[in-house]
Amino acid sequence: MNYDVIIIGAGPGGIFSAFELVKEKPELKVAVFESGHALEKRRCPIDGDKIKSCIGCKTCSIMSGFGGAGAFSDGKYNITNDFGGTLYEYIGKQKALELMRYVDEINMAYGGGGTKLYSTAGTKFKKLCIQNDLHLLDASVRHLGTDINYIVLENIYTHLKDKVDFFFNTPVENVKAIDGGYEVCLADKSYTCEKCVVSVGRSGSKWMEKVCVEMGIPTKSNRVDIGVRVELPAEVFSHLTDELYESKIVYRTKEYGDLVRTFCMNPKGAVVNENTNGIITVNGHSYEDPAKQTENTNFALLVAKHFSEPFKDSNGYGESIARLSNMLGGGVIVQRFGDLIRGRRSTEDRIEGAFITPTLRATPGDLSLVLPKRILDGIVEMIYALDKVAPGTANDDTLLYGVEVKFYNMEVEVNENLMSKKYEGLYIIGDGSGITHSLSHASASGVLVARDIVK
Ligand SMILES: Cc1cc2nc3c(=O)[nH]c(=O)nc-3n(C[C@H](O)[C@H](O)[C@H](O)COP(=O)(O)OP(=O)(O)OC[C@H]3O[C@@H](n4cnc5c(N)ncnc54)[C@H](O)[C@@H]3O)c2cc1C
Repeated sequence: MNYDVIIIGAGPGGIFSAFELVKEKPELKVAVFESGHALEKRRCPIDGDKIKSCIGCKTCSIMSGFGGAGAFSDGKYNITNDFGGTLYEYIGKQKALELMRYVDEINMAYGGGGTKLYSTAGTKFKKLCIQNDLHLLDASVRHLGTDINYIVLENIYTHLKDKVDFFFNTPVENVKAIDGGYEVCLADKSYTCEKCVVSVGRSGSKWMEKVCVEMGIPTKSNRVDIGVRVELPAEVFSHLTDELYESKIVYRTKEYGDLVRTFCMNPKGAVVNENTNGIITVNGHSYEDPAKQTENTNFALLVAKHFSEPFKDSNGYGESIARLSNMLGGGVIVQRFGDLIRGRRSTEDRIEGAFITPTLRATPGDLSLVLPKRILDGIVEMIYALDKVAPGTANDDTLLYGVEVKFYNMEVEVNENLMSKKYEGLYIIGDGSGITHSLSHASASGVLVARDIVK
């Protein structure tokens, strides 16, 4: 065998697998194959000046490379079982929290020290939310910020680079079970290993599906979350964000009984494009450094859609909606809440005349031509509900960017150690497994499998 362990994907799941393997058994021969660039070479060409929108690079530097989708993220590590994945269903709530706390300790030791850990425990906002038919979820959240998150990744890479063989710009094409292990096939050659950890994230979702079909690994259809990113003056949510940083609030719509939730709140942050398999959607992040902060806060409002029979392709449904916005807007569409309510599109003039400066250059348009009525109605209802706890949310000038889609991978069949039930020694972890959807859960899954391998 060329290696004891090969890890596919250098996102948080892959990085924490490598970290823990090296820590627990330094004599192991470990390789990491990553289709994207090394950290210092990752750069999205959008500069807001010469290049204003996504040009569809061969590998998206926002989604791929050392650090995975998390590298330029806001670096919010939520320590909770209430959202971010269902790891606890495999290993129990206590163990899942312990692993997330362990990941937090590593992040603190590698450059995150001094960043703030926020908590919803005992806050007055829970009561305020319930009084207004909103539900604040429990969590502790470590906000590293995009800048410190990058430093932590840099430090972890420096620590690992001489102990692990990293292959960047090296997409894995296939994985084959061989006698006593696995063959990991690249375009022009292949490597063998005894154990293989697959951690390909959301950008590797299509690849993961292909591998599961080829290897006969059962999968379950998952959900897709569809909605918009809301951007408003930071003052509107400052009473919540100053104390909690991020508030995950859930609302059940009166009209359809659907659940709408806030997601990925970025105080004084920026709205950004995200490219998943060529489809441009919207996301957000913010910096810890006050010099890089903006005057706006952004967060997503998402509605979850599950499908059962006969249609199972939740991601395909989300993609089609995102494609519609890309078709009409050439990318992401932005609309003032006031324009949406009045049934008219936003125009350059209306956006320029607003009392808020957008942080992302998007095409002014009409989101009602893109989002299904049921989803849009739910979002509008939630904006009015949020207006009661954060007055100003339903202002005419509140900006809605669309669409934001959270794709979830098919859930892959694995055992309680995240090892394929069919293939001994093949681990499938992180967002690519459909089990995690966040930095903390994906990282925790990496630690979990490394410990199992060492054992
Ligand atoms: C802009 C943005 C902001 C976010 N903000 C937050 C946040 O604040 N908090 C939070 O909890 N989550 C956030 N997320 C989500 C978070 O980044 C992911 O949940 C997390 O990165 C998942 O980790 P992972 O290791 O499973 O996968 P990923 O981070 O997606 O890493 C997978 C890696 O595998 C590589 N890969 C894929 N296929 C192959 C292949 N065939 N061969 C080789 N390599 C391959 C990819 O290039 C990628 O680098 C954000 C995501 C984005 C895009």
